[in-house]
Amino acid sequence: MSLLQVEDLAIHFGGVKAVDGVSFSVEAGEVFSIIGPNGAGKSTIFNLISRFYKPTRGTIRFDGQDITHLSAHQIAPLGIARTYQNIELFDHSTVLDNLLMGRHTHRSTNWVQDTLFLPKVRRAERGHRQKVEEVIEFLELEAYRDKLIAGLPYGVRKVVEIGRALAMGPKMILLDEPASGLSVEESQDVAYWVEDMRRDMGLTVLMVEHDMSLVNQVSDRVLAVANGESLAMGTPAEVQADKQVQAAYLGT
Ligand code: ADP
Ligand code: MG
Repeated sequence: MSLLQVEDLAIHFGGVKAVDGVSFSVEAGEVFSIIGPNGAGKSTIFNLISRFYKPTRGTIRFDGQDITHLSAHQIAPLGIARTYQNIELFDHSTVLDNLLMGRHTHRSTNWVQDTLFLPKVRRAERGHRQKVEEVIEFLELEAYRDKLIAGLPYGVRKVVEIGRALAMGPKMILLDEPASGLSVEESQDVAYWVEDMRRDMGLTVLMVEHDMSLVNQVSDRVLAVANGESLAMGTPAEVQADKQVQAAYLGT
């Protein structure tokens, strides 16, 4: 069974059909990309999967469970983590603290235990730190560990945003335009990390991205959307050869 199954997903904002009957499945261990012009509905699909938005119709299944009607805070504990197109970090906290906050979904202790700092709390805390240190090493953020987000270059903040999601230890990560605003070299780093996330961490990756060289390099399959609807789905080469996809990009 597919890890993620999206069936006839739709959301309408007043008269705007932001997403209008999109279906796709993502297999465990797959890198699956969604492409499409600005305003096509890509981030809205992420907001529907992470349950920030309630769909007008359709179903979303993850890991064998219908998650269509769960609330947003129930999503992360199932193993779905996401990044945001507009970086969502705490500017006046350090990189380390931002990544530790990404772990809060794993709380297995309550406030009484926390206050008394019982062995269970200390063990959990060690586990959180260990995971976060793994992520810092993986994304080569050692030099920035104790720096405030506000003072970091944009490219580094983009990487910390990925780190915040990885620190949650998800099964599936949703990356919303991870390479936007990055240099060619920085985008290439993102490509390597996506490949390593799959190979070394066993993650499933669902990515929205405009950088077609990144999409082509890392994706097993691609879904092209425009005006909230699917245009084509297949390998990167198949989707790029599609006449409807070409027309949507050329605006004809
Ligand atoms: P993109 O493919 O660029 O990520 P979005 O998913 O952000 O596109 O937006 C798709 C469409 O849905 C746009 O027309 C956008 O204005 C609209 N939209 C998204 N979120 C909302 C909202 N909360 N209220 C009204 N319209 C929205
Ligand atoms: Mg978007």
